[in-house]
Amino acid sequence: MASTSASAGALLHHVRTGRARSRAELVALTGAARNTVSARVDQLIAAGLLQEGGRGGSTGGRPPTLLRFNSGAGCVLAVDLGVTSVDVAVTDLSAQILATVGHPIDIADGPDVVLAEVDRLAQKVLAEAGLTPADVCAVGVGVPGPVEFSTGRPSHPPIMPGWHDHDIPGAFARYGCPVLVDNDVNVMALGEIGVGGSAEDVLVVKVGTGIGCGVIVDGEVYRGAQGSAGDIGHIHVPTPDGRTVLCRCGNENCLEALAGGGALLRDAVEAGLPVTSTRQVIELAAQGDGPALELVRRAGRTIGTVLAALVNFFNPHRIVMTGGVAQAGAPLLAGIREAVYGRSMPLAARALEITVSDAPDLSGRVGAALMAIQGYLDGDSVHQALAR
Ligand SMILES: [Zn+2]
Repeated sequence: MASTSASAGALLHHVRTGRARSRAELVALTGAARNTVSARVDQLIAAGLLQEGGRGGSTGGRPPTLLRFNSGAGCVLAVDLGVTSVDVAVTDLSAQILATVGHPIDIADGPDVVLAEVDRLAQKVLAEAGLTPADVCAVGVGVPGPVEFSTGRPSHPPIMPGWHDHDIPGAFARYGCPVLVDNDVNVMALGEIGVGGSAEDVLVVKVGTGIGCGVIVDGEVYRGAQGSAGDIGHIHVPTPDGRTVLCRCGNENCLEALAGGGALLRDAVEAGLPVTSTRQVIELAAQGDGPALELVRRAGRTIGTVLAALVNFFNPHRIVMTGGVAQAGAPLLAGIREAVYGRSMPLAARALEITVSDAPDLSGRVGAALMAIQGYLDGDSVHQALAR
């Protein structure tokens, strides 16, 4: 959103993210006329979205009345859809979870079965929080596959058979509110940035079965021309020993085929480790098993080779690692740091932070809630709310 806009949605955004705390600060931030700002703030107060409270520090004249966002003015549904489980939460308008429930599913059962289950869980969390469907202002859904963001329809998702072009927003029609759908990596990236919507440039890299990257530019998700920005799992990576690995996409030596969760398990089995799942490889590494540690570290170095190129190109403030394989923590980070700091240009790498997510299980739900909240408050729907 352009910081110069003075629409009601933009003013609300500035107060909500802590960029402005009074009418005077909104005027200074947007450059809009004092009367215009005052009239729109009054509308937002009448609609219950802003509240007045307290006095700010004076710079000479009468101290300004402080404005604050009323996060209790509504609620949103957040749906974090995975391959084998779904988490549904209801949150207030600052993404504070009011009630949440998780349930096992099989995404391959298709949209009718899975979305019926989501609907059942949504009614359960609403009831638990003492709310009704009429209270829901927006719905945010994260799914494990590519999505055309403008329509909320999955686009040839490789691990979601039967979901291609399915009208996911249509499944939530009875709430009569905006429904936003995006791939799980972009949603998790929003969750990592948090409510404050910091103005940083961040890469959120999910290493699970696949590898994907949420690209945050100036605090906002960058989706690219068709919504596939950050699809780094199929970038070609040269192997030091010249080995060739076929990727499920049909190409050779994609990042995912060399360093994703499936690759880690395959290499561990080939090395004779007693494992049947990626999780077991991660657990072995956590127990200090030498060969498992070396495999995780090598995956880190391979991922780091790609991230080094991204750092040179994008110059992010931070890289946050998340997903099942990222739970390996230290040995994975060691490999990533080795490659990134060894190959990035000094100016780009100087202040770069590379960390593992604090709450990977939560960021999907919080991100879906934030996406819904943005869809409601920053979009046209806030104007409609004001008109009512
Ligand atoms: Zn590939």
